[in-house]
This record gives sequence, C-alpha cells and structure tokens, in this order.
Amino acid sequence: MGGATGTTGGGPRLPAQAFDVPLDAHLHTDLSPDSAVPLELYCAQAAERGVREIAITDHLDFMPGAPAYQYTSYKHREQVVRDAAERWAGKVTVRFGVELTYESRYEDQIREHLRTHSYDYSIGSVHGLSDGPYARDRIASFVTGKTLPEVVAPYFAEVARAIRSGLFDTLGHMDMCKRWLVPWFKAADFAAAPEMYEPLLVALVESGTALEVNASGLRHPTGETYPGPWVVARFRELGGRRVTVGSDSHLPNCFAFGIEEACEIVAAAGFDRLALQRAVDRGDLVLPERFRR
Ligand SMILES: [Zn+2]
Ligand SMILES: [Zn+2]
Repeated sequence: MGGATGTTGGGPRLPAQAFDVPLDAHLHTDLSPDSAVPLELYCAQAAERGVREIAITDHLDFMPGAPAYQYTSYKHREQVVRDAAERWAGKVTVRFGVELTYESRYEDQIREHLRTHSYDYSIGSVHGLSDGPYARDRIASFVTGKTLPEVVAPYFAEVARAIRSGLFDTLGHMDMCKRWLVPWFKAADFAAAPEMYEPLLVALVESGTALEVNASGLRHPTGETYPGPWVVARFRELGGRRVTVGSDSHLPNCFAFGIEEACEIVAAAGFDRLALQRAVDRGDLVLPERFRR
C-alpha cells in the first residue's frame, strides 16, 4: 500500500501523494509560467511511488499577453519531454501532453495549433479570463444578487463550447469556478443544482471527450475534486465511458496528490480503468485491485 492515505485514530482520511496508481495525467513543470518543478523530479517521484505513467501538460495560452502565451516554444517543450521519456523508459512512461486554455474566441487558433503540432495527450481547460467576470477585482460585484446558475453560466457555457469543439482528449477541471466562488457558494450548493451539469455531461458523452477528475480541489478551500464524486457517477449513468485523473501539480509535493481519492471516485462511479488518448482504448490503465468493486 505504501500509505498513500492514512487513517489517524479513525478520523477522516487526509489526501496525500499517492502510491501504486496507474496514472497522473495533469502535471506542470518549469515549462509552465506558474511552476518551477523540473520534469526530472516528477519522473523520479513517479518511479519511487509506483506511478507507472505520467502526462506532462504544461500550459498553452492563446490570448496575447496571457502568462502562457508563447512562454516556451513547442520545439523546446517537445524536446525536454521526449528526452525525459527516453531516459525513464522501462521505469516510467512519460507522455508529452499539453493543457490548452480554451477560449471560444481563439478556437480557430487552437484548432490550427493542434492540427499542426503533435501531442500524446491534450487537455482543454477553461481558466479565469483576465477580462472576464471572475477576475479578483470584479467577482464580488458580479456575484451580488445572482443565483448560483446565473453565476456559473459564463464559465459553464465556455466549458460546453470546449467540449463541443471536439478538439481535446480530455476536458480539464470541469467546474474549477467552484474555487473562486467559495466565499459565496459551497460544494453542497453546486450539488443541489445538478441540472447545471447535465448539458456538459451529455456533451462529453456525445463528443467522446474524457472527463478529468482533477484532484487539485482537494487542496483548495473547495475541499472536493473538480468535479465532485456525484458528477462522475452521473456521467457514468449517462453513458460516459472515458475518465482520467490528474493532480494538476505545480509543486514538487503535489505530484500524485489526491490521486488515491480520484481513483476511488472513479471506481465508485463504476469505472474499472482510466483513459488517456481519445482514440486509444488502453487495457493497461486498469485500476489496481484495491479500487475494484
Ligand atoms: Zn487548468
Ligand atoms: Zn493545470
């Protein structure tokens, strides 16, 4: 077991860095503007912890002036990750991925980038737009007097467009807006409005896009994954077949963080394996025995 999570005197289990899991499919290195972690460190931790496969998914933004807009070249990112993949072959499988910030106004550029650049794995994620309603200096006045569905509408509408674009292997942190809304709305409020999620889940099923269970919410005040367990279960009920898990680590001690919990959520929803690339059915990403029901 290795003590990925532990019970202390019967108390609640605290999330920790996982051992013996098939995959951490969301990792940021110093090739992202908001991380200083050398790729080598993730590879070493993966080998030590029995995380058999990792996807390096550094940020790529399309809005000129955004932090990950032309931060590094594709060529450099590819070389660094492919070199590591070669060095660690036989010990850890290292995939060359990317997390593309989806904004519908840049969809043509994103499509063109993915058409002309080759990745092992792509995550499409909606982030907080600097000129959008969730910006730190704007969010309080935006939220005032609005219901939760009204507040999440701009975020979820953009997420729906990201999924419908069909461009990505996986949709990243589907409801990360929970993080910014903590002062006003809790996870329970989101769970009380399942109809907000329904169109997104239907779009995932229809487009064949995988749902990511992003564990970073477990270390945020949000206190649950993006999305929460009940959303993953509903995705399965609606016919969802492809799920993946990621720590969204930006720090050395966040590698594989919460992946044990994410795998439990996936298993409880009825999945027996994880997915990575859209077009590939992987038999080797089966969840270890301890997760099976
Ligand atoms: Zn993200
Ligand atoms: Zn990320």
